[in-house]
Amino acid sequence: MGSLEDSPHEVIARVFGSAYRDFAPLRLRVRGRAMSATTLIDRAPNGAVRTDGKVALVGLGRDEISAELARIGIEPKKIRMRTKQIFHWIYNYGVTSFDQMTNVGKPLRAKLEADFTLERPEIVERLISVDGTRKYLIRMSPGVEVESVFIPDVSKTGALCVSSQVGCTLNCTFCHTGTQPLVRNLTAREIVLQVIIARDDLGEWPTTQENRKLTNIVFMGMGEPLYNTEKIGDALDVICDPEGLGIGRRRITVSTSGVVPEIGPMGERTSAQLAISLHAANDELRTQIMPINKKYPLKELMQACRDYPGLSNSRRITFEYVMLKGINDQPWHAKQLIKLLRGIPAKVNLIPFNPWPGTDYVCSDAETIKSFADLVNAAGYASPIRKTRGQDIFAACGQLKSDSEKKRASAIRKAAKA
Ligand code: SF4
Repeated sequence: MGSLEDSPHEVIARVFGSAYRDFAPLRLRVRGRAMSATTLIDRAPNGAVRTDGKVALVGLGRDEISAELARIGIEPKKIRMRTKQIFHWIYNYGVTSFDQMTNVGKPLRAKLEADFTLERPEIVERLISVDGTRKYLIRMSPGVEVESVFIPDVSKTGALCVSSQVGCTLNCTFCHTGTQPLVRNLTAREIVLQVIIARDDLGEWPTTQENRKLTNIVFMGMGEPLYNTEKIGDALDVICDPEGLGIGRRRITVSTSGVVPEIGPMGERTSAQLAISLHAANDELRTQIMPINKKYPLKELMQACRDYPGLSNSRRITFEYVMLKGINDQPWHAKQLIKLLRGIPAKVNLIPFNPWPGTDYVCSDAETIKSFADLVNAAGYASPIRKTRGQDIFAACGQLKSDSEKKRASAIRKAAKA
């Protein structure tokens, strides 16, 4: 059990072991920036420990909250009940102060205040597009920044596009995010925090509030979700908990570039809807656009789709297809696609390409996209042409993170000149 007299590092080291003791002081200066005394420390378990020893509870699951309560000496027979109360206050009411937990006695509230915090990570940038799309750049810990995007009017309400990694290893050639190196996987807590930040910003507490706009979650932000399946599963246990954030599992979509061995296990673990980032219907072209296809070619990918747990006409797989002028947008490409999808309950999202500086790709023209959609539609597959959203704030598909890095670089140049 920690006490306020202990040095922060002593408390953290006692909780997480001597390995952390050796490691923590090295983190006090990252990217040449000094950390404040209350900054969250990267890479401590779940990234939830601050340098002052307090543990950030928001983003943690029930088991982790229980473990924290045990650590501060809560009677074992009361831990379950206290966990339930605190979980409900955090995820149903979105409270930001322990004083708001009115069914928790004052002495315990004071203890919680001494050992824990309900703070959120810093929002480095918040942008709102003319079309209502909102983009958040969130600093999870020093040097670890992620973007998430709230898109209104998706489905009947709105969807939050969340990131699963910082950067990406996969180098899909149409995607700007793929040009940025992988920093690391996000923790489950950091995935949950993206939802909390959007809920705060939209003023959608408590969960029981009617007409909430944030009803759907799509894992289509930065990174390949199926390289972080375990943490996504843990995060969804919190996000989908009916006593907390309460987002139904049928409203969760996980998108993959085609990490075949993880597709089935992810479906079993999460019951999420599956989306495949496809973009080409023959191996030669797909490998050119998405190098991962060399490792997991279309035959294996399509088999994994056919075997996806719970697949049916009411639970179709969404195939994402970015429209690249003269590359994958001809009628024969559409016919190949139709053949490839045969027998799979599927829907095809046609995405006009969002250009970014340095890309050689150009978006197909509107008429070509329409003809392509007509062919796919006529074969019995819904093929909506996705409206590009949030382009004025660089929040559109494949543009995430790039602008924030660019801005930081220009800010550095400006500062150097000053
Ligand atoms: S499309 Fe997804 S998997 Fe491919 S590079 Fe971009 S972020 Fe990575």
